[in-house]
This record gives sequence, C-alpha cells and structure tokens, in this order.
Amino acid sequence: MYLRKKKNKDLIPISIPYLEGNEERYLRDCVRTGWVSSVGPFVDRFEKGVMEYSGSKYALAVSSGTTALHTALVVLGIKAGEEIIVPTVTFIATANAVRYVGAHPIFMDCDDYLNIDVNKVKEFCEKRCFFNGKNLINKDTKRKVRAIIPVHILGNPADMDGLMKLAAKYHLFIVEDAAQSIGSYYTKGRYAKRHTGTIGHIGCYSFNGNKIITTGGGGMIVTNKKTWWDRARYLVNQAKEKGTAYVHNEIGYNYRMTNLSAAVGLAQLEKLDNFIQIKRKNFLYYKNKLKNLEGIKLFCEPSYARSNQWGYALALNSNSNISRDGMIGVLKNNGIEARALWKPNHLQKPYVGEQYYKIDNAIKYYERGIFLPCSVGIKRCEIDSIVSVIGRALGVK
Ligand SMILES: *Cc1c(COP(=O)(O)O)cnc(C)c1O
Repeated sequence: MYLRKKKNKDLIPISIPYLEGNEERYLRDCVRTGWVSSVGPFVDRFEKGVMEYSGSKYALAVSSGTTALHTALVVLGIKAGEEIIVPTVTFIATANAVRYVGAHPIFMDCDDYLNIDVNKVKEFCEKRCFFNGKNLINKDTKRKVRAIIPVHILGNPADMDGLMKLAAKYHLFIVEDAAQSIGSYYTKGRYAKRHTGTIGHIGCYSFNGNKIITTGGGGMIVTNKKTWWDRARYLVNQAKEKGTAYVHNEIGYNYRMTNLSAAVGLAQLEKLDNFIQIKRKNFLYYKNKLKNLEGIKLFCEPSYARSNQWGYALALNSNSNISRDGMIGVLKNNGIEARALWKPNHLQKPYVGEQYYKIDNAIKYYERGIFLPCSVGIKRCEIDSIVSVIGRALGVK
C-alpha cells in the first residue's frame, strides 16, 4: 500500500524503502499519544531491539549514521591533529566524521570485496609508522594514528580479525562503520556469529532511506562498554547534566532520534530478517543470471561471512567493450537506474592533500564499478530485464 508508487516514466530505482509492516500503526500511535519528539517509548523499544538483534550490550539511537560516527570519535577522545585510517572506497560521511573532530584521514585502498585492504593497512603501520610503546606515530607527519574505521561495504563484512589484531598491537580504536551492514555477521574465525558493528570498540548503523531498514533518517551507536554509551548519550543530548535544570558543562550536540523516526525503525526492524532473506535471494538470482555473461564481476560476500546483501554492484572487466558511463546510459535508456560507485575519497575535493597509501584497486573499481537496483521490492521480471539489458550492452546475444 505504502510503497513509493512507481510511475511508468520512473526508472527502476537503485534502492527505495519498503514500508508494508507496522510503520503506519506505530506512527499513528505517536501522534495519538503526543510522543513525537526525542523521548518516547519507540526510541526505547527500537534501541532495545537493535541491541538484542545485533548482540551488543548497549545501543543509542541518534539522528543519522553520520552523527553516530562523529559521536563515536568524540567519545573515544580523538582530537584535532590526530590521524585515522579510513578506506577511500566508502560514502564520504566516513571521512567527514574524521574531519568533524579535526583529525586527518589516511586513505587506504580496497580489496576485491571493496572493503579496506587489511594487508595494506598492516604494511602502512609497519613501514610508515613506528610504535613508541604507547602510540602509533606516523613517520611523515609525526602525528598520532589513533583509530581505524573499517566500512562493511554493500553489507559484506570486512576482515575484522586482521584489523582487531592490528588494533591490539598498536593501541588503536576501531569504529565500525556498519551503516550498510546491519544484520551481516561472521560465520567463521574468531568472530563467528558476531554481527558487524559489535566487534570493534564502537559500531555505527545508518537508517537513511536507502539502507536496508530506514527510519526516514537516523542512526544507532552500539558498544559493549557502558561508559562509552553513557558518554555518547550525554553528548547527543546537548551535554545536559542530569536533572531538569539547564546545566551544561561541555559543548554537546543535538543528535537524538525522534520517537517518530524510531516508530518507523521498530516496524522496519521487525522485518529485517525477512528483508535480508529477500535481498539474498534476489542477489543469487542476479548472480545466476549474470554468471553466463563474460566481461563482468559481481561483488559477492566473502567466504567467512553472511552478508545482509544490502547493495548490489558489478565491475566491468578492463577489456570490456563498453565504458562504465556507457553502461549506465544504456541502463537508463531502458528504464533502469544505475550509478557509478562512490568516487574514491582521496580524490574528492575536500580531501585532496590528505594522505593516502598505495591506492590502485580503488581506482580500477571506480572506473569500472556500477551500483544496480537492489530494493527489497524489486521484482524478478525487473531483474530479468536488467540482466538482459546488461547482456545486450556487453554484446552478448
Ligand atoms: C549511509 C552511510 C553513512 C551515513 O549515514 P547517514 O545516516 O546517511 O548519515 C555513513 N557511512 C556509510 C558507509 C554509509 O553508507
């Protein structure tokens, strides 16, 4: 009923919300009871729901994935002039959060899953930095490297095992940008059964409209450490001291989630397992149909994890007879929305001049990579037509 209606001239969208559950009922409840703002029963229920679902000890609802990341860095005490290792392949919010606290990003290359290349991170720490027994110091800049922000791209879990080992060795914090990956978890290794977002020191989810579940706009901070959760809760509420008086001893933020948003979020969370099941089935369907096409690579889940399969993306081979933009144009002319992958952040205007280390894979995939429609509500016949358009564009009969 409440699907954003697709008109004939509309393209098959990349990702739109699916709002067929209790969203309307819960929203009505907010209006009827007057609980529309940043306190209310749905905020509590949504936090508890995400906490239980993810298996983290504490959860805090906030206004966006971006504000979740910013708050996490403040909570961990990252200061201006310090450095944070981030992937160059990610939505720009990851890097922006680093700059909000005045720290500097060090951009890293991606592996063949588009996730941060842990071997290159390790090499960077070993060759370009030294450990003084307390901190990791960047030899070039003499600044402290304080943290790594891995991003689980498309919902496919990054190699947390490798990253956590580095973090322990060099006293680094890990803030997981799990904006795209709620519901993804590890199936093997040291973190088997653990969800993305709950392994590092703090994890951040996003509920923006294009994510697997949405609150309209919103985010969540998860952690196992109560003092960090307390501190985050204090900061996102304008650093208001306990009690009713307006007493503030620090500069805080208004980063809370409203009860209205949380009402939608709770209804969406009830459907998350169902959404993941659909996303995974649709992905397999795409994969089986695309596997006969030469000239493309589909980004799949790593063997050690079960992905929520939030996003679908492919890369054209370097010898492909059509360019990325050529392919996007053909898809668009056939009523299908497709987009280039995020431009690597070390090439984005605000970040030119920041450090980056041996980036080549990211450029290769940027030049060849395309996001495909992945909404929960996508129909099989739509996937059929997308695949056949791609096949024709590649010159396959
Ligand atoms: C969406 C996203 C964010 C930002 O989340 P918002 O809720 O839109 O602020 C951050 N990082 C990644 C990787 C994302 O995909």
